[in-house]
Amino acid sequence: MTTAEIIAVGSELLLGGRVDTNSLFLSESLAEHGIEVRFKSVVGDDVEDIGVAVTNAVRRARLVLITGGLGPTVDDVTREAVACVTGKPLRLRPRALESITRRLHSAGRAVTANQRRQAFLPTGARLLHNTAGIAPGFAVEWKRCRIACLPGVSHEARRMCAESLLPVLRRAGLLSSAIETRTIQTFGLLEGEINDRIAGLLPASGAFRLGLLASPLGVSVSLTRSKTVQRMQARKRSVTQASTSLDALMGAVMTELGPDVVSIDGQTMEEVVGHRLHDRGLTIALAESCTGGLIAHRLTRVAGSSAYVDRGVVCYDNRAKTELLGVSEPLLKKYGAVSAQVAKAMAQGVRKRSHVDVGLSVTGIAGPSGGTGHKPVGLVYVGLATSKGASTAAFRFHGERDAITLRASQAALDVLRRWLCHGCPRPPSGSGIGPDGGSKDL
Ligand code: ATP
Ligand code: MG
Repeated sequence: MTTAEIIAVGSELLLGGRVDTNSLFLSESLAEHGIEVRFKSVVGDDVEDIGVAVTNAVRRARLVLITGGLGPTVDDVTREAVACVTGKPLRLRPRALESITRRLHSAGRAVTANQRRQAFLPTGARLLHNTAGIAPGFAVEWKRCRIACLPGVSHEARRMCAESLLPVLRRAGLLSSAIETRTIQTFGLLEGEINDRIAGLLPASGAFRLGLLASPLGVSVSLTRSKTVQRMQARKRSVTQASTSLDALMGAVMTELGPDVVSIDGQTMEEVVGHRLHDRGLTIALAESCTGGLIAHRLTRVAGSSAYVDRGVVCYDNRAKTELLGVSEPLLKKYGAVSAQVAKAMAQGVRKRSHVDVGLSVTGIAGPSGGTGHKPVGLVYVGLATSKGASTAAFRFHGERDAITLRASQAALDVLRRWLCHGCPRPPSGSGIGPDGGSKDL
């Protein structure tokens, strides 16, 4: 299997304000094509530092991917660094200059001396076209290794990787479909709980790798099969003995996790509920307090959501809950705005006033202040009102304000998902979420 190393170049990535995100989609894309990323590093805009990083990477990997530092300014020195390390001096590449000129002319601009610098590539480098921007990329061979340089601007790097780099690597025979990965997104279970439930399902052969990744959106379970390992093992086994397929393992894991499975292979929670609402011809209105419209935003990001999203009401203050949703003042006074009773009244109120099929509400304490011993920061109630009645679920989230609101939006959508997909708005018994009572720490 081809091994790779990624180097993200940019002093801004070392100053704390910007994060290297390019290596994420690059790693993902390489993994999909059977290339294993073994190391990655971040280096400032410095010829020597980049040179050291490249020299080290070339010792370890067959493919070195560099992102960033191809721009027109004096701090963009990736070209120089690669030329220096490989001993392949920079030469003007007329085709690169042509495409830079064409792109700038189409925007009514002339080519400056700095932009012309971008057309100087190491001698013998293969030009990687940039169809999303100006800076050309390139790939050079050195010491049995391929060094490929992509721009720092994310959408340019992404496009160049797909359109120019992968075809070059394919022609060089460096790609395979050796790694096959499927993912299962869950919500409502902790990593440890998932691990305990599914670890025993993996065959002892070691042909599959299990990955668990927790985020405010839940725990993502990845199952990876190495075809190379599988092939080696198949040779040792008798021909008639069937091997476990990744699909079969996926099926077993999904059965085990049951209603806590939100989606497979990257579908988002809002897409799942959106498709269900659409298929069932249902309309929805939202009443959001602590999430401040985040649920409405997430639902309406899905193309075609106008078919089922009617409206969203941000009712932050008690007065808004009363005026816009009809939540009674005595109820607010008796139970407090963050309570199951108010969540229920909000869901019923927005459903009734909007004349929709489903009302979904959220009220909670996002923090960092506002919590009490009785009602701590992170306590969130979700209300769901349908033609069959109303129910609520309580959650207790940890983390900072943004994480709590994101988790609250996910929990509310999950309550809706469970009702749409399984006819029950609550997680199965034992998970700790009760109609008007118990809460679950997530
Ligand atoms: P290019 O080669 O396209 O000119 P560059 O790194 O030379 O890229 P910069 O101006 O330094 O150009 O970066 C362009 C933008 O891309 C900046 O907003 C920068 O923060 C961002 N960027 C650079 N590298 C990365 C990375 N690894 N991950 C995410 N964003 C990045
Ligand atoms: Mg840069």
